[in-house]
Amino acid sequence: MKLGNKIQLYTTGLFIILLLLIAGGIYFSFSKIVYNSDLDQTRQEAERIVTGINEQSSEVPSADLLRAYVPANGMIRIVLEDGSSDVSLTGGGQSYLIQQDYQFTRSENADIHTIEGIPHSFVSLPVVWGDGQVASFQLTQSLRTTKTNMDILRIVLVLVSILAVVPLFLSTRLLSQLITNPIRSLIQTMQQIRESGQFKQIPTQGKSKDELDQMADTFNKMIIQLQANYEAQEQFVSNASHELKTPLTIIESYASMLKRRGMVEKELFDESVEAIHGEAKQMRNLTQQLLLLAKQEEHWDLDIREVPLLPFIQSISTSFENAYQRKVYIQVEEEVRVQTDEQKLKQLLYIFMDNARKYSTDPLVISVDRKGNQSKIEISDEGIGMNEDQLERVFERFYQVDQSRTEGYGLGLSLAKALARAIGAEVSLVSQEGKGTTATILVPLSQ
Ligand code: ATP
Ligand code: MG
Repeated sequence: MKLGNKIQLYTTGLFIILLLLIAGGIYFSFSKIVYNSDLDQTRQEAERIVTGINEQSSEVPSADLLRAYVPANGMIRIVLEDGSSDVSLTGGGQSYLIQQDYQFTRSENADIHTIEGIPHSFVSLPVVWGDGQVASFQLTQSLRTTKTNMDILRIVLVLVSILAVVPLFLSTRLLSQLITNPIRSLIQTMQQIRESGQFKQIPTQGKSKDELDQMADTFNKMIIQLQANYEAQEQFVSNASHELKTPLTIIESYASMLKRRGMVEKELFDESVEAIHGEAKQMRNLTQQLLLLAKQEEHWDLDIREVPLLPFIQSISTSFENAYQRKVYIQVEEEVRVQTDEQKLKQLLYIFMDNARKYSTDPLVISVDRKGNQSKIEISDEGIGMNEDQLERVFERFYQVDQSRTEGYGLGLSLAKALARAIGAEVSLVSQEGKGTTATILVPLSQ
């Protein structure tokens, strides 16, 4: 069953039960009060008649005397001790009352009987009759008027109950719609997303800020995040495959040339092998970088330990100078020891040094200092630099200011970001077009 119907069914059902209980309670307690007061009246009437009889002198025949007391809506009857009736008088010819069974009772009695579908109050009192024997004086009165009134009350209560159910039904319908409409639109949007594979947001009123609005808000935020992740991933995959396509095409074309003419043309053979080798090396570098980027950072096996910074940087720059024949100056403001993964920090420094080397021609400068509880390593070059807009994008995967440069893939800095995150370091770049670039790396000091 749908949620809206459930809400409506339960609230309406509960209210109807409550209404029936209240109406029933009113009806039964009221009818009890009314019938009891009727019975009381009949008893008082009976007592009045019996007192009247007792006060009368015995000259007047008792039956004649009784005639004066007969109620218009009932019957007076005297039952003798042997069970026979001496007198039976009715007010308006209610012969059905005379035909009723009767019996002698010595004690006082008051009750309500239903005769021919109509309630009657019945009171019997002992009385001294005629020759001094004890008889039972019995007064019966029809309660037809009371019954009619109670019938009217019942009809009124039923009508009121039915009338109350109508607005109740409408209001619960409204309530259930209030709750289920946003849920329904949520489900619809989800279905649309599933069917179309596109990211959509749920329109929110944004006024009430109730739980349903919050749910839609959360859903929308989740969708935005999913969409961003999805697009980034898509971009990454398309970039990666694009980057692999060029070297693969070069390798393929050189290989087919080799197949056709490689054996006869020595020069072509050398050129092809050189090109294939170069491309293969680049591709290996690219796949290594991609694999590292794709790997979840928490799965990088970190080996964090205390590292004295100066000898570490000295050894890096020495091997760098040998590999690229570029001078590296080291400036030390304060000698510090850092708490880090040596291998990862080395990779990080190489990425920045490699950039400084590629995008400048003069010697590089590495400076070491302390900043609060971090060590500050700066790698500066006086190369081509970048403008603000370019600087903003350099940490994106595959971003390169000048696409025509064939060296590299634009992955270095995004890898540097990931490496820094892994070892708890911070990296930033400052650059001026035509003047040069300074990379700053902040690494936690050892305690
Ligand atoms: P890869 O590092 O993957 O071999 P890459 O060096 O082009 O290739 P990144 O290191 O991510 O990629 O750098 C992105 C871009 O930022 C570079 O292509 C370059 O245009 C610019 N850049 C980075 N460092 C410098 C620098 N020191 N001077 C001038 N431009 C720089
Ligand atoms: Mg680089």
